[in-house]
Amino acid sequence: MNWITNYVRPRINSIFSRREVPENLWQKCSECGTMLFHRELSDNLNVCTNCDHHMAITPRARFDALFDGGIFTEVDVPEPIADPLKFRDQKRYPDRMKAAQKKTGEGEAMLVAEGEMGRTPIVTAAQDFSFMGGSMSMYVGNAIIAAAERAVRLNRPLVLFSAAGGARMQEGILGLMQMPRTTIAVQMLKQANLPYIVVLTHPTTGGVTASYAMLGDVHIAEPNALIGFAGARVIEQTIREKLPEGFQRAEYLLDHGILDRVTKRTDLRKELITIIRMLMDLPPQIVGDLPPPEAMDEPTAEAGNETSAAAETEAAAT
Ligand SMILES: [Zn+2]
Repeated sequence: MNWITNYVRPRINSIFSRREVPENLWQKCSECGTMLFHRELSDNLNVCTNCDHHMAITPRARFDALFDGGIFTEVDVPEPIADPLKFRDQKRYPDRMKAAQKKTGEGEAMLVAEGEMGRTPIVTAAQDFSFMGGSMSMYVGNAIIAAAERAVRLNRPLVLFSAAGGARMQEGILGLMQMPRTTIAVQMLKQANLPYIVVLTHPTTGGVTASYAMLGDVHIAEPNALIGFAGARVIEQTIREKLPEGFQRAEYLLDHGILDRVTKRTDLRKELITIIRMLMDLPPQIVGDLPPPEAMDEPTAEAGNETSAAAETEAAAT
């Protein structure tokens, strides 16, 4: 019996449990190693339920959680010229683009949307790190300009979620030129007196940090996000000094005055609503479930009776 209980059964169990639990249903936290069930993880906005490690989240998943009822309208972004430099490294640039589009299901590295968040109208743009490292391309520049123009037209604040390794090298100088272009887009918001809020997510580096990600009226970062211009190794080699612990991490930057807040992803929505409503001079958010407007316009039979009953009591009172 020992041989069966000690050897055979564990073998069988391991084979079956492997089959019952396909890899994609569970994700391992890269920080603490806990296995997290996919639904639990997505409900918690890709934040580890054990150690609070913030994993990457796609712009679409973020918007689903951010907007009321997950309802938002995408803002059109003008398409730039494809592959103007005919760039080729190990792969052609158009092939890299196609691979990234297939992997992410998105057309490019930035998603722009408008909608309401806690009944607060906003325009928002989010960068997708899983799309070629969220690199700043001509399209990303166009997206930020489209977002800023839309915000000005609708008189709404712009909330931008940054995540990037820098400018897209396949577009060379044309990628780098998005730094001044996006700076002008931010300037448009300031001239229109509209708040521009940047949420810096892991990682925000390179030309993105050197332009639109650092021009916000309010800078919020997600915990432990890497935020910087040049990499720590490059800086260390240049200044020939050991860098302090936590260098270029959100908490360190908060201590040194570069950020205004470090906020957990799960608290972000509430905090953004509060900040925006204060800056836009709106009354505080109404918390609680209000009946949807349709329910009031077309009362059901039961609701109709109630209203007529209420009207009768009112009539009797007068
Ligand atoms: Zn964890």
